Amino acid sequence: MNNYNRIPVSFSHGEGAVLWDTDGKQYLDALGGIAVCALGHAHPAVTAAVCDQAGKLVHTSNIYEIAVQRELADKLCGLSAMDNAFFCNSGAEANEAAIKMARLYGHQKGIEIPNIIVMEGSFHGRTLATLTATGNRKIQAGFEPLVKGFVRAPYNDTDAVATIAKNNKDVVAVMVEPITGEGGIRIPAPDYLNKLRAICDQHGWLLILDEIQSGMGRTGKWFAHQHNGIQADIMTLAKALGNGVPIGACLARGPAATLFKPGNHGTTFGGNPLASRAALAVIESIEKDQLLQKADTLGKHFLDGFGTALSGVKGINSIRGKGLMLAVELDRPCGDLVKRCLAQGVLINVTADSVIRLLPPYVMTTEQADTVISVVSDQIRQFLAA
Ligand SMILES: *Cc1c(COP(=O)(O)O)cnc(C)c1O
Repeated sequence: MNNYNRIPVSFSHGEGAVLWDTDGKQYLDALGGIAVCALGHAHPAVTAAVCDQAGKLVHTSNIYEIAVQRELADKLCGLSAMDNAFFCNSGAEANEAAIKMARLYGHQKGIEIPNIIVMEGSFHGRTLATLTATGNRKIQAGFEPLVKGFVRAPYNDTDAVATIAKNNKDVVAVMVEPITGEGGIRIPAPDYLNKLRAICDQHGWLLILDEIQSGMGRTGKWFAHQHNGIQADIMTLAKALGNGVPIGACLARGPAATLFKPGNHGTTFGGNPLASRAALAVIESIEKDQLLQKADTLGKHFLDGFGTALSGVKGINSIRGKGLMLAVELDRPCGDLVKRCLAQGVLINVTADSVIRLLPPYVMTTEQADTVISVVSDQIRQFLAA
């Protein structure tokens, strides 16, 4: 179907941050399959774990105990101080689980039409509930009727959330990205999540953090909200969790952790032995290779590098990022840069029309990062001069 506007290049194999296309041309991958391949391509430990598991057992169904899924749940709950985990196959599905949990929570409190506060400029997925939660009309247009039970606030505006709290007694939860991904790597005020946490506590609401893009070490901590020293009630994960093997997770803590009862929710493939084993290998590799520190230092290197390479260039609105969630925002739409950089052998992305987004694998070397910085900066300068 014609739902993707595909770039006419196809890759045959990769290694770390390098990809080769079917004509043998080599590329540096500064996008990592949109924040998925955090450990790069063909990571030896993940490859070995997936091959070994594929030779033993791929799937049995959630009708039975799955030891490796339980091990993954324990591991993720340990890293996040959450209590329970539900596994699925994508980010949208993880958010669907979170939304359903918030509704159960509301109904338990006797609220007939539970409302969830969601933000402008957010992205939560493409299923009907998650595209309704998404704060982007382009994603919703044509798919009406949208799902009921969502109210919208501007991103990075806790006064707006407090005002909704005063006027709307049906709110049960706030759902938010710690840093927006598709929305353009918007980094909120340092205390934004703390203030949201306080409002949620004051009103007995659940704080749902969508860490699908920002989680799994990308910002230099396991989860971006850990920079704030707060905890979510519900947190969703996907993207980097399986380094490309499809897996999503919805983790919960406290009262939220026991909302689902047998029969409430499920999915056939979720957390099967293959996907769970891949995710365990991802976590072990991040720990063993100290990749949280690496994401932090390489991210700073990128910011410094772009700052120097683009200093004094007119047309640059901002250079920003946290860890390896990086953006250069221009003062004009710049989708063309994707093709220009591709021709120079560097894979990048442009989101929100004018935001060049880099989500490089944590395993990218400093030398490779320097090549990315130099190629992308050159292309930006040429683009702005044209
Ligand atoms: C990618 C993404 C999703 C959706 O994940 P899918 O696996 O594409 O369904 C949801 N939220 C955020 C923040 C994302 O970046």
